[in-house]
Amino acid sequence: MKMSASTPQSPPPHLQHGQHGHHDQHDQHGHHDHHGQPLIEFKRVTKIYGRDQAAMKALAGIDLQIYAGDFVAVMGPSGSGKSTSMNIFGCLDIPTSGSYLFKGIEVGTLSRDQRALLRRHYLGFVFQGFDLLNRTSALENVELPLIYRRIPARERHRRGLRALEAVGLKGWETHTPGELSGGQQQRVAIARAMVTEPAVLLADEPTGNLDTVRSQEIMELLTAFNQERGITIVMVTHERDMAAYAKRTIRFRDGLIDSEEQIGNAILPLEYNGGTVQ
Ligand code: ADP
Repeated sequence: MKMSASTPQSPPPHLQHGQHGHHDQHDQHGHHDHHGQPLIEFKRVTKIYGRDQAAMKALAGIDLQIYAGDFVAVMGPSGSGKSTSMNIFGCLDIPTSGSYLFKGIEVGTLSRDQRALLRRHYLGFVFQGFDLLNRTSALENVELPLIYRRIPARERHRRGLRALEAVGLKGWETHTPGELSGGQQQRVAIARAMVTEPAVLLADEPTGNLDTVRSQEIMELLTAFNQERGITIVMVTHERDMAAYAKRTIRFRDGLIDSEEQIGNAILPLEYNGGTVQ
């Protein structure tokens, strides 16, 4: 993702309403108020790529609400619309029709620069290929989003060190990605996404390249960020074991939501489909 450093540090006034504190809709135990405004809301969202004969309907009219403090796993076969939805959640793209409301703001009406500001202030991204700068230390990689925010060097270092410590990489600050294992590189990518203390973390197959043990460690880290800091997480995964860490699983099919499971913090058997839970 390219970001220009030329835009100001604060969102423009019309982006500022109702944005005092990232975590206003849930208490410190991670419970959320489903009667409040959703953090992320799709209303009959469609996305069509190409036009005329070549038109491809990637999203076919989706309604969806995600609340502050949620941890959502997004599943579904290849081509079902997961990445397209993540790009829209992340304000990297806009719907063809319908509306996407982020904190009640109609994202489709914003300019590119305004969307970039929303990203910078509220969103953290973790993608599969890590996307780290290779010849740059772990600490400098993590500090990068703070440079875009024009945070002074001393404060940047302090926050960068704290973020690396939070992902268990204290002592590895000066190492470059090539000197780190795959799991450690993914931790650097997570620290970089978390260093700005985003309201929402968007993760696209965050454990895609990792072995089982490393994957579980990354999922435990994400769960802790969700439960202890109230960070809202939306994560694409192909693996049920990874989706089991989420509070809610949404399955896509043919550009629509096919099914949804809400499992709270308890992990119910996946074949569970009725009766009373006490
Ligand atoms: P998933 O992430 O679930 O694999 P995508 O959201 O990437 O699905 O894709 C949904 C559909 O939209 C697919 O049929 C895909 O080929 C199509 N698509 C995605 N991106 C583009 C694009 N940039 N141009 C044209 N078609 C696209």
